[in-house]
Amino acid sequence: MRSEIAPRTGTAFTLAKGQRLTVIDPHGEQVADLLAFNRADVREVISSGRTLDYASRIYLTTGDKLYSNRSNVLLEIVEDDVGRHDFLLTPCSKDTFRIIYGDTDPHRGCFGNLAAALAPYGVIDDMIPTAFNCFMNVPVDGATGELRVDPPLSKAGDRIVFEAKEDLVIGLTACSALQSNNGSFKPIEYEIA
Ligand SMILES: [Zn+2]
Repeated sequence: MRSEIAPRTGTAFTLAKGQRLTVIDPHGEQVADLLAFNRADVREVISSGRTLDYASRIYLTTGDKLYSNRSNVLLEIVEDDVGRHDFLLTPCSKDTFRIIYGDTDPHRGCFGNLAAALAPYGVIDDMIPTAFNCFMNVPVDGATGELRVDPPLSKAGDRIVFEAKEDLVIGLTACSALQSNNGSFKPIEYEIA
């Protein structure tokens, strides 16, 4: 069954070990921030630092594993239509919009959406780390390390599929930041199998 996440919102759900989560960009150029917590102890969560260290790369795709802060594999990428995702930047937040966009009445962003959706599972704000940002396109200048946030390379219907390696709680958004999504807010779809 396919579920939709409305533009600028988020959700949370459980994913059992061995189940597969497919994240779909139905219209193209839309980012989805993904978090995974160990359901048995939500203090264990995906770790950008550990994952990129072990992969020795910043762009992850099919065959790559997402490690936790305790160095256990929580998810593995098993299919990927796009091949460009970000695991460097934190979920967009009120502060992102205040600091980068200068908004005076900022949206709560992916961070606020994730915090609200994950609260029933015992996750509090300060437990939210860098998300795996599906379809987010952040090229890095090889000489200076300068980051850019470019339009996603995802086209309508493109997907990325993850397999759960533990019983998990997943947080997932349709990202709320204009720059990440080439200037418009679109839905995200997902399926669990
Ligand atoms: Zn976002």
